[in-house]
Amino acid sequence: MGAKEGFILFKRELPETRKPEERIHDYKEIYKPFDGEKLNHQAARCMDCGIPFCHQGCPLGNIIPDFNDAVYRNEWEEAFQILRSTNNFPEFTGRICPAPCEGSCVLGINKDPVAIELIEKNIAEKAYELGFVKPKMPTVKTGFKVAVIGSGPAGLAAADQLNQAGHEVTLFEKDKKVGGLLRYGIPDFKLEKWVIDRRVEIMEKEGVIFSTGTEVGFNIKAENILRNFDAVVLSTGAQQPRELKIKGSDLKGVHFAMEFLGKQNQVIAGEILSNPISAEGKHVLVIGGGDTGSDCIGTSNRHGAASITQLELLPKPPKQRTVLNPWPEWPMTLKTSSSHEEGADRVFSVLTKEFVGNEKGEVTGLVLVDLEWKEQNGRMQFVEIPGTSRTIPCDLAFIAIGYAGPAQNGLLEAFGVQTFDNSLPKSKDYQSTNKKVFLAGDMRRGQSLVVWAISEGREAAFKVDEFLQGSSALPRKDEGYYEVEQHIHY
Ligand SMILES: Cc1cc2nc3c(=O)[nH]c(=O)nc-3n(C[C@H](O)[C@H](O)[C@H](O)COP(=O)(O)OP(=O)(O)OC[C@H]3O[C@@H](n4cnc5c(N)ncnc54)[C@H](O)[C@@H]3O)c2cc1C
Ligand code: SF4
Repeated sequence: MGAKEGFILFKRELPETRKPEERIHDYKEIYKPFDGEKLNHQAARCMDCGIPFCHQGCPLGNIIPDFNDAVYRNEWEEAFQILRSTNNFPEFTGRICPAPCEGSCVLGINKDPVAIELIEKNIAEKAYELGFVKPKMPTVKTGFKVAVIGSGPAGLAAADQLNQAGHEVTLFEKDKKVGGLLRYGIPDFKLEKWVIDRRVEIMEKEGVIFSTGTEVGFNIKAENILRNFDAVVLSTGAQQPRELKIKGSDLKGVHFAMEFLGKQNQVIAGEILSNPISAEGKHVLVIGGGDTGSDCIGTSNRHGAASITQLELLPKPPKQRTVLNPWPEWPMTLKTSSSHEEGADRVFSVLTKEFVGNEKGEVTGLVLVDLEWKEQNGRMQFVEIPGTSRTIPCDLAFIAIGYAGPAQNGLLEAFGVQTFDNSLPKSKDYQSTNKKVFLAGDMRRGQSLVVWAISEGREAAFKVDEFLQGSSALPRKDEGYYEVEQHIHY
């Protein structure tokens, strides 16, 4: 463990951020570096509990107390090996994971939890700085060929694992560059894209073949993939946006969030000259209180919006856990993102009724009504509060109310994958209804998190390897990762 009394001696501390008024003029990462001794103190807060609930909180099963201890002892290579044994891309999760592990940290019962995500980011960055992250060539070649389709975190993790297991892996991506939502969804102020490029370069040297600008089902037919590869991993995401079916949602100025965010990332990457949607000088409404909505706020502020209001159907969450949401569950408390800090009004318990527009067909306002939430038959239900209907000004609206599932473009059918009524594909242990085709990430579980996508990619890779070779030495969650990791020389 870290220091014996570290959790008494040191308080949780996070890096300072650049001031909101400064950072809204660029898209660079907002955090300042965190000095070595301060990080050592944070690692020292870990109590190495008998039952480390943080393992269970992390979808990857990261071995958190062990890497905290190694950081406390300044053993960076050891810390990195422990982290790498469960997480292919700690440089991503260390920056953008909402850290469910911290919600289940035992210290969090009556104090602030250990700053696990921060420690993870620093281990990853130190590992690059000190040269521990270098290409590792697979030690065996099996002769099997695997196609991975979709290069988000799920596809990247699956490709990395399968390549290390000795298979020839080709990763097909329809976009110009690799990364999925890491690259064309999550804004640069949360994840600068050189972080992805740095990792992809290593994977290329290790032998993963990247075929970008290749839309499977369009540029290459599914039947060709099925014929030419021994197994297939589909990890094409769940980017079909959920529609807001109210009157006026077809007016000019009403957009799905991803139409705005994806283009902005392309502008920053120099792929296009300007964002066809500009928030400059506009009264912006963001409909939906999640991560995507928050990213629209940060991006609209950087465009110079006149005002930004975020609307949420659900009631305002409490500041502290309630008795119905005890530790170690994920805390359903009010989250204030860095984008919220940069400026936005947040309105809870409201129902959007209709957009109104002018004679040119442009949106000018939104009619909404306040809600009262009540428990009925064990379920929370809302009723509209009479007399609260009003119209608020709106020149630009972003719909960020979630995702309906994988794109409806015939890809699943072409691969012989059956779906449920909600359009998510059927699978058993990551294997689809076509025995040769495996599924991973958002397309299998619905819109989720980067850490879950990496976990899915790893688990699907194990099943593919087992399918091809009869058994697999690839590590799985809860099956002694660390030992296996040393055995197969990751
Ligand atoms: C705006 C936004 C912000 C988010 N912020 C966070 C965050 O802060 N933290 C967090 O943990 N999660 C966040 N998420 C969620 C996270 O990004 C996703 O859960 C994760 O990227 C899913 O990974 P994936 O690999 O399953 O799919 P994706 O990342 O969606 O990747 C799928 C890939 O498949 C490609 N593809 C699709 N069809 C084809 C085809 N036919 N041929 C070839 N390629 C194809 C796509 O182009 C894409 O590159 C955010 C999501 C959004 C939209
Ligand atoms: S990947 Fe996320 S949940 Fe897992 S240890 Fe890191 S921050 Fe915590």
